[in-house]
Amino acid sequence: MPTVPAESLRSISRDIFEALGASSDDAGVVADVLVEANLAGHDSHGVIRVTQYCASVRAGHTVPGAATTTVRETATTTIHDAHWNFGPVAMSHALADGMDKARDLGMHAFGIHNCNHIGRLGHYSDAAARAGFVPMITVNSTGAGASVAPHGGRHGRLGTNPFCVAFPTSDDPILMDMTSSIVAEGKIRVRRNAGEELPEGWILDRHGNPSTNPEDFYGPPRGAILPFGGPVAHKGFALSMMAELLSGTLTGAGNVTERDGHIGNGVFCLLLDVGAFRGEEEFRGAASRLGAYVKDCEPADGADEVLLPGEPEHRARHSRSASGIVVDDTTWQGLCAEAERVGLPTPRG
Ligand code: NAD
Repeated sequence: MPTVPAESLRSISRDIFEALGASSDDAGVVADVLVEANLAGHDSHGVIRVTQYCASVRAGHTVPGAATTTVRETATTTIHDAHWNFGPVAMSHALADGMDKARDLGMHAFGIHNCNHIGRLGHYSDAAARAGFVPMITVNSTGAGASVAPHGGRHGRLGTNPFCVAFPTSDDPILMDMTSSIVAEGKIRVRRNAGEELPEGWILDRHGNPSTNPEDFYGPPRGAILPFGGPVAHKGFALSMMAELLSGTLTGAGNVTERDGHIGNGVFCLLLDVGAFRGEEEFRGAASRLGAYVKDCEPADGADEVLLPGEPEHRARHSRSASGIVVDDTTWQGLCAEAERVGLPTPRG
């Protein structure tokens, strides 16, 4: 498995997307969102997705260069239509627009229709929190998302429907970014690529029976992922329903009852400008003191320390920026094949 510097992964991915028709800027945005996910320790949302995004362009499901338009607008809300450009491009555009508007009126909420996979939600909320906002982002899976069983159900009915909220501090943001399923689908893909079994309690097979074999999830026919919570999975299921209603039904992006086979993310994002509530510096200081107080708790048996939400990702970014990113062989071969297919030199690992 090659260890590759983040900058090399960025330029390989950017060149591939550019060769497939994205502008240099847009290709850079997509590459950045993917490689930042690797840096944050979430290989499930990193360059493992390059082949998926390329296949989507070739199938006509991703339309490089499509301009985002406005479907509906009030002083504090915007519904965008991404017209199936790359998800990270659409989300970055909508976020920048939302932050400008939230700066004026103290808050802004937006939704995105016809949006491809936006990748790791924490990427966007980290940027918004550092700029002085409290972002809350949810996505559903439009077009096909039936990979997660409802609590008490045997088969998939919902997407992995993640929730992400972040707060600025005097240092790195405190950032929650979690699926409402027990695990992100991409993490099953990572285990499958590595030839590993899954922990118990992650998936059901096609018949609705518990399984630890990743192939039982992918099928065909597909099995299902369980909602998060183990013995209290009704809580993960409740969060999933809220994400589905916010990002698919409220925004009008479409929910799991409307499956046309064009898989994407319905996006909901609420941005609160901290400065509209209290002085931004005062807030950052208070949030940092809260974090320090919570972290100061004596560790339980088996734990070295208390970590705040977002801390594992901030630490991974520091260490992987220095050491490089270990890319699994399947993903690396996929990157090399995509590069060759578009006429680029074979990347060196
Ligand atoms: P995870 O379980 O690794 O982490 C969830 C949260 O817990 C994070 O906020 C993390 O900082 C925190 N955390 C982890 N370990 C901790 C510890 N020891 N102490 C304190 N806090 C800790 O993440 P996940 O649920 O597997 O989600 C993975 C990624 O998948 C997310 O970035 C999400 O945005 C992404 N995702 C995207 C989509 C999409 O369609 N775009 C769908 C699903 C998931």
